[in-house]
Amino acid sequence: MSASTESKVVSVDPSRLRLTDGEGTTGVFLGMRCRDCGIYVFGAALFCQSCSSGDLESVELSGRGILYSYTIVRVPPAGWPGPVPYVLGEVELPEGPHVLAEVTDIPEADLKIGLAVAMALQKVQDGQSETARMVYKWRPIPQFTGVGQEETR
Ligand SMILES: [Zn+2]
Repeated sequence: MSASTESKVVSVDPSRLRLTDGEGTTGVFLGMRCRDCGIYVFGAALFCQSCSSGDLESVELSGRGILYSYTIVRVPPAGWPGPVPYVLGEVELPEGPHVLAEVTDIPEADLKIGLAVAMALQKVQDGQSETARMVYKWRPIPQFTGVGQEETR
């Protein structure tokens, strides 16, 4: 049996993130919508968190949101593969659910509530396994100021 040299990529949590291409560079957040009260939930759910209805449908959620709250994590959970300290952000999607993930590529001084962020996928290699997990992070969306995005500080 010849070993494949191609490494596979899988979603870190298929109930919350669906990869939309083979390389795992793009993905979409998944959730549920209650047919009775219209509320959205991030990830899988059997019952509506608001009205406890069981009449839920699977939906795709927006990959953008605004920073609702954040914390600087200096003592990471066991097995945390990234650098420390890191920023853990709680981001509110336009549909309502909050999504917790690391906020990358932002200096601590630039962090502020209301910051516009977008989903960014990052590959985490799984030990010696050839399977890589794609994890979701948040990354600031550059402000579109029209012509000349050169920053003047
Ligand atoms: Zn409901």
